[in-house]
Amino acid sequence: MDGNQKNETPGIVKAVNSMTETQTYTIIDGRKISQDIKKEISEKVAMRKQEGKKVPHLAIILVGDDGASQTYVDHKVKACKEVGFHYTMMRFADTISEDKLMKHIDQVNRDEDVDGFIVQLPLPLNISVERITEKIRPDKDVDGFTNRNFGSIVSKNPLLLPATPFGVMELLKRYNIPTEGKNCVVVGASRLVGAPLSMMLVEEGKATVTICHKFTKDLGMFTRHADILITAVGKPGLITADMVKEGAVVIDVGTTRVEGPQYKSGFALKGDVEFKEVAPKTSYITPVPGGVGPMTIASLLLNTLRATELRNP
Ligand code: NAP
Repeated sequence: MDGNQKNETPGIVKAVNSMTETQTYTIIDGRKISQDIKKEISEKVAMRKQEGKKVPHLAIILVGDDGASQTYVDHKVKACKEVGFHYTMMRFADTISEDKLMKHIDQVNRDEDVDGFIVQLPLPLNISVERITEKIRPDKDVDGFTNRNFGSIVSKNPLLLPATPFGVMELLKRYNIPTEGKNCVVVGASRLVGAPLSMMLVEEGKATVTICHKFTKDLGMFTRHADILITAVGKPGLITADMVKEGAVVIDVGTTRVEGPQYKSGFALKGDVEFKEVAPKTSYITPVPGGVGPMTIASLLLNTLRATELRNP
């Protein structure tokens, strides 16, 4: 699927930095961690079944026939099947009006059998993502997109955490990468990834966080100071070796579909980081694909289980 995949096999890699120095770095295996999480969830689901408790039920709303969205949704359905969740797919043509879609969301909000649901993004341009997102009941918002869930990051007991940031935090934890007191630089300040992740790194991670965005002048001046560098922009090649400190942890959330005849499937998924030149300078690095991507689905499943447990302990 990805032209880089062969060079980004997870595990510990030895790299020769100069004539005299050999350094090792670890390629973080998001697929393996996500499999571990799915196994833990399926055990909990089996236990709930045994005890006669409600099985988690995820509903997925898909508008239109965008190929990439269909692929993401297929992965989510597959993950539900793997862990034993019930699921419902709701498909609508891209001609659906915002009001009609709102009515369907209302129905799912009221459906007692559905524990959590997501509206796959992007939506057609005539539909406001903000209005649709805010219509979702916060305790069923398993993507963690609503303002209520965004704000709950800073509360003592967050409700449902934004899925991708949650996945990044889980990767750091499961690789025993400490964040307390570390200098973290997050590149990208979006409402869905960069901003909530920065808050989670401060609140839960006890890190010192710098957030960079499109208007940041001299990005490298900030990234070079990072013990942990996280990038969520969507610009392949943005982070080069000269922008990374020796021994840094690098987490690449960026996922861009780059087309070209050299790729078997006609395209490759690329991160923001120039993986080949950056990896030898790091202590840990995520590949794209196979790093953060699988963790987003694992977080969605964790959130759905949590939503079920909150409503039906
Ligand atoms: P987004 O809404 O487009 O946000 C991108 C952010 O990057 C914005 O804050 C933007 O700044 C900033 N930015 C743009 N150019 C920049 C530059 N040259 N230097 C520094 N910052 C720059 O995208 P998103 O939804 O956060 O997603 C970001 C990337 O992560 C995309 O590639 C997306 O596909 C990927 N992603 C992956 C997963 C996964 O599961 N792996 C999940 C979600 C997203 P402004 O705010 O100033 O415009």
